[in-house]
This record gives sequence, C-alpha cells and structure tokens, in this order.
Amino acid sequence: MTKTINIVGGGLVGSLLATLLARRGMRVRLIERRPDPRSASAYAGRSINLAMSDRGLRALSLAGLDDDIRAIAIPMHGRMMHDQQGSQTYQPYGTEGQFINSVSRGELNKTLLSAAEREGVELVFSAACTHVDFDNAGATFACGDGSTLKVEGDVLFGADGAFSQVRGRMQISDRFNYSQSYIEHSYKELHIPADQTGGFRIERNVLHIWPRHSFMMIGLPNPDGSFTLTLFLAHKGPVSFEQLTTSEQVQAFFDEYFPSAVPLMPSLLEDFATNPESSLVTVRCSPWVVNDRVALIGDAAHAIVPFYGQGMNCGFEDCRVLMECIDVHGDDWASALREYERLRKPAGDAIADLALENFVEMRDKVADARFLWRKKIEARIHAEYPSKLIPLYTMVTFSSDIPYNEALRIGREQDVMMEQIMSIPSVIADWTSAEAQAEIRAVMETRPDIVIASGSPRQR
Ligand SMILES: Cc1cc2nc3c(=O)[nH]c(=O)nc-3n(C[C@H](O)[C@H](O)[C@H](O)COP(=O)(O)OP(=O)(O)OC[C@H]3O[C@@H](n4cnc5c(N)ncnc54)[C@H](O)[C@@H]3O)c2cc1C
Repeated sequence: MTKTINIVGGGLVGSLLATLLARRGMRVRLIERRPDPRSASAYAGRSINLAMSDRGLRALSLAGLDDDIRAIAIPMHGRMMHDQQGSQTYQPYGTEGQFINSVSRGELNKTLLSAAEREGVELVFSAACTHVDFDNAGATFACGDGSTLKVEGDVLFGADGAFSQVRGRMQISDRFNYSQSYIEHSYKELHIPADQTGGFRIERNVLHIWPRHSFMMIGLPNPDGSFTLTLFLAHKGPVSFEQLTTSEQVQAFFDEYFPSAVPLMPSLLEDFATNPESSLVTVRCSPWVVNDRVALIGDAAHAIVPFYGQGMNCGFEDCRVLMECIDVHGDDWASALREYERLRKPAGDAIADLALENFVEMRDKVADARFLWRKKIEARIHAEYPSKLIPLYTMVTFSSDIPYNEALRIGREQDVMMEQIMSIPSVIADWTSAEAQAEIRAVMETRPDIVIASGSPRQR
C-alpha cells in the first residue's frame, strides 16, 4: 500500500529525504516555513557555501544528483594555513585525488527542491509547523496567508533543523532525553570579492585557514571568484566579538591578527557591521522515533558544530541509511525506523564529539610543527599499511563505509599507537632515516588489520 509521508522542513536534508522517498513510490508532502528559495522574490544575498564530502555525495547519488552537484562544486584538495606574518603552509587532506567540495548552500537547496518536485513531491512553502500530533503522525502549520494547514499520514519526519519544532514537541513527552550546549565561540560571515577580471585573489582549490590559537578565520571558494570567510571568535572575553563594537576596534583587530587578509577584504567594515554574530550549538537527544511513526532526521536529531564540515554530510547519510532500512524491512516501517535509529544515533553522537575536537585542531594544532610532522608520518604509514592505519580525517571525510562511531573508536586506538611511534628516539631524530623506518615497520608488522563494524542494516 502506498504510504503517505509528511516532512516538516524543506532544507537540505528534508528535500533530499523527500526525493528519495518519492523515488520509492511514496506519496510525499514537504512543508517548509520559508518562501520558495527558487522564486524571483526570494532573497539573493552573497554566497554561503559548505564543504561536501564523500558521505554527502554518496547519498546524493541515490537521487542521481551527485554529478549535478559536482558540476557546481569547487574541489578543495587541502588546507592552506596563513600565519600572522603572511606565510602560507599547505597540507593536503588525503592522498592524490582526494578532495572535499565547496558548494553553494542556496544552489544545493534549490537543486534538491527541484529534484523533489520532479519526483512528484508536493511542496508547500511559507507554512510553519506549530503543533505535532504523535497519534496520527500529523502536524499543524500556520501559513503565510493567515490560514491553517493540518496534515496526517502514515509517517511524519522532523527535518526542521537545530531548533526543530517536531523535536520540541517530543521534549515535553515522557522519557525524552535532550541536551543542548553552546560553545563560547560565535561566528560571523565575511567576504573576499573576485578580482577585476573575475579571478580568485588567493589560491582557489584549497580551504584557507588563518589559525590564531583561540580563534580562527576560514575561507571557502565560490564559483564567481569570491570567497566566503567565516570568523570564529569568542562571544565574550578579552579577545571577543564583545570587544569589537566600533569600526576602529574591528580594523585594529584585523590589522593585528589578519594583516595579510585585510587588503583582500574591501568591504570588511561594512560586512562586519551588517552580518550577524551567530552562535554554535550541539544538540543531542533520544529517542529519535516516537510511536513508530514520528522521526527526527538531520540537524533536528543531531545539531553539531561545523568544524569537521560534516553536519549536512551526516544528515544526508541519515537519509541513505534510512533508505537501506526501508529496503530491508519493506512495509514494516516500525522496524525500519527502529533500525535507522539504532544505526544513526551512535553515529550522530560520534560526529558531534569529533566536530568539537576538530575546532582545536583547526584553530590551534594546524599551526603546530609537531602536529604537521605527525600528519606526514601518518600519511606515509597509511600509504604502506592501508589496512592497519587510516588517518582519522580520511575515515571521516573520504569514506562512506566507516560509520562515524567506528571512525572515532579506531581514531582513538590509532592515537595511542602514533604517540608510541612518535616517542621512538630515532623517529624524533629523523623519521625518514633507515633506522626510524625499520622501527616504525616493527611496530606496524605486529598490528592487526582494522576491523570495522558495519553501519548498514542487518539483512533479514
Ligand atoms: C557556519 C556553518 C557552517 C557549516 N558548514 C558545513 C559544511 O561545510 N559541511 C557540512 O556538511 N555541514 C555544514 N554545516 C552544517 C549544515 O548547515 C547543517 O548540518 C545542515 O544545514 C542541516 O540540514 P537540515 O536540513 O537538517 O537543517 P536546515 O538546513 O537547518 O533546514 C531546516 C529547514 O526546516 C525549516 N524549518 C524550521 N522550522 C520549521 C517549522 N516550524 N516549520 C516548517 N519548516 C521549518 C527551515 O526553514 C529550514 O529550511 C554548517 C553549519 C554552520 C552553522
């Protein structure tokens, strides 16, 4: 029997989910609070981009959209670190041919909505969910024209983001666990325009980082030659947004900490004054499924800080794994949703932890010589023993078969081993010497191959 599915939230995850369910023959309605971003009247501001990696692309391939997105993406092969004196250091993300992709958030959302429409999804815009009915997998919406919309179906998904209304209703039900924590840093988006000829003012195919220990700025390229910059800085304290209230203070701060970027940012003061300071939250909750019929997905289930560039990728992976669960369990949605939660909740918790840890790596460790030295040794060992060591970044970013929780576990074990290797005197003296290489080999030969628990549903 055809199932009727309602999805609250037509952001990145909701629109991919709608497309994938419609392709499986379900009747799908996607209801979004904002107006249609594809309409002429929708606000067209400056590009905001995000990093898409293998997990996201694999989920998009299920909808036949991965090549469309690759076509509008800019590959980023590594990090370019800019120190305070203006020197640059490059660190590749993986091996030759491995890269992440800078994609326009707006274009991605529009592409996904159009794909959903093509698959027959009913799209409803300007309708904000105000109430959720667990018994009937239903919801009520306040519409832009003043009317009220009520929907019911077989299953309701909350894909309505970090401040989910669907989750909000769950929060006031018995035995629902919920935590929300803000980090002390906020962020503000800034801008490097293209040069006069439409070219890039700094290296195009990298993710730029200006690490300053307790804070940082990053830059991702856009197809129009510009870069979207994001400043991550404490909200309060001696060096913080709170201290940057006048143009003079902003200019002095940038002159001191980002002198090489200042000449590239002609609209710095205007952007700083105009663009909001936004906070960064981690949300964890359980269960994700109520009454076997109402489920959370994407940021609604697991909002994380953006430092691993995985929030959207994780939400897209939720969609892929959910489709696998549906394929395995057929019409038995209760089992499919239970299996989805069993597989994805640990993954969501793990990427939340990894994302928090990666902030320290990006803003501080990437500027540290020992860290860069370790990365080089790790890369060499991985090349020689790919079944025994996989760098954590590679597992998270360039694999879609290793669940995040497995990447976290394996990464912790590898940390211990790498510390052992890096304390070998010959490695400290010169890790490329024959003696050091022999000692590294001695450690690696005794190490078993990595065993990875599957992130896919059990076949029945
Ligand atoms: C600064 C920053 C940088 C990031 N960079 C990356 C990155 O590089 N890579 C990456 O993978 N991830 C990144 N992320 C995370 C990524 O943006 C999110 O994980 C992703 O947008 C989640 O998608 P979603 O559809 O679950 O939620 P959202 O994108 O938040 O979509 C939710 C949708 O629900 C709608 N909605 C909300 N409430 C209601 C309601 N009551 N009724 C109806 N509709 C409603 C909203 O309007 C919205 O359209 C970043 C996040 C931030 C903050």
